[in-house]
Amino acid sequence: MSLVMSLRGRGAVGSAARTAAVLSRFGATASAMAGRLERYRAVAAGFGARPTWPATACVLARHPDLLRRYADEGAELAVHGLVHGDHARYDYATQRETIARAVGIFERAGLEPSGFRGPYLRYNDATLTVLRELGFRYHSSQAFAFPRYGPSGNALPGNRAYELALELYSARDAARLAVRPRFRDGLVDIPVAIPDDEIILERLRLDDAAATAEWLRIFDLSHARGDLFTIQLHPERVYELEGALRATLTAAASRRPRVFFARLDEIAEWWRRRGGFTLAVTRSAPGSVRVNLDADGEARLVTRGLAVDGEPWDGSETLVDRRSFEASSERMPVVGVSRRTPRDVRAFLTEEGLPYEDSEDRGAYGAYVDIAEADWSETAVLDSIERSPGPLVRLLRWPRGARSALAVTGDIDALTLKDFVLRSWETRQSAFGRTHT
Ligand SMILES: [Zn+2]
Repeated sequence: MSLVMSLRGRGAVGSAARTAAVLSRFGATASAMAGRLERYRAVAAGFGARPTWPATACVLARHPDLLRRYADEGAELAVHGLVHGDHARYDYATQRETIARAVGIFERAGLEPSGFRGPYLRYNDATLTVLRELGFRYHSSQAFAFPRYGPSGNALPGNRAYELALELYSARDAARLAVRPRFRDGLVDIPVAIPDDEIILERLRLDDAAATAEWLRIFDLSHARGDLFTIQLHPERVYELEGALRATLTAAASRRPRVFFARLDEIAEWWRRRGGFTLAVTRSAPGSVRVNLDADGEARLVTRGLAVDGEPWDGSETLVDRRSFEASSERMPVVGVSRRTPRDVRAFLTEEGLPYEDSEDRGAYGAYVDIAEADWSETAVLDSIERSPGPLVRLLRWPRGARSALAVTGDIDALTLKDFVLRSWETRQSAFGRTHT
């Protein structure tokens, strides 16, 4: 982290404390960090998970063999800038040049990166344009702040340092928005959950038990909502948060309906495929409907209030394997949408896998959405559909009947003390266009 960013994000006192803590994690050679990467890999592997590690290209250029070995063992390495700079402040030309050079470094190391995460979880529109032009498949820099509350539902106290992080990351509010991938003109945008490791340890200064509770709470909420929990745990902090990581993966591995453990490239690939599936619900005769899903073998439908063969899934819902079936139903098992409802609600329902029809006839549908204001909440829409009487059919968000998804990710910003010290110098060079590798 550059000094400027550090001061903006924390204040001078927090910055000095952090610098001391960070320096203690790195050594003169990469062996201390290699031990952390190995522990990280092993903990995830114990649960059948493989991590995504976005790596700064100049760090990869200095340690290609070490990082290549982890990629061979199943870790995904995504691009985390040429240098560790603030991409929200870079113009198009700078990003086009530096990200292309980063890709070149990855390719020379024998890697084919498909994703990008901005340092400090920051980016701008030019970042996305450049990623599309360079053929990236996904982008994962947008922070989503999960609501923080205690066991009795009381709001947990934050502090100024935490609020500064929310500002720095332009964090979106998970209380209002669905936390799942979304298409952005050809790129799959994959959210990052916060509080992350840095917030937990250095801003909120939580102990082991509180850190574990923090991530378990995010996991519970993400599972209940069918969301994606993208854990951000930098490898240099893996010993400090190993307990929280293990507890979260333990909970996720045993939860039913099951959780889709995946790397970010796998999540992007699934979301892209899923976007090509079509679910059609039509009236075949009075009192009966025909459901037809055009999709690959990993897609699943979930129904409620319809007599159709399948296995019990969650609550009163049924997981349906079949691609095509007929069912008797007086009401259409889709979402009715009023004329005045904003257009983007319809696009949202489509990406959710919820078929809809425009209609003013509220009683003719299993669920009905009527929104007058432009400033609507995605979670409120989904909650109202959830509470509706049904019947309903929808395409599940995740493959093979999974209810939610979880990705273990952590940025590799430095592997040695030298990398760490070089970082702010490289970032300054890059800002003036005198980039180097
Ligand atoms: Zn970073």
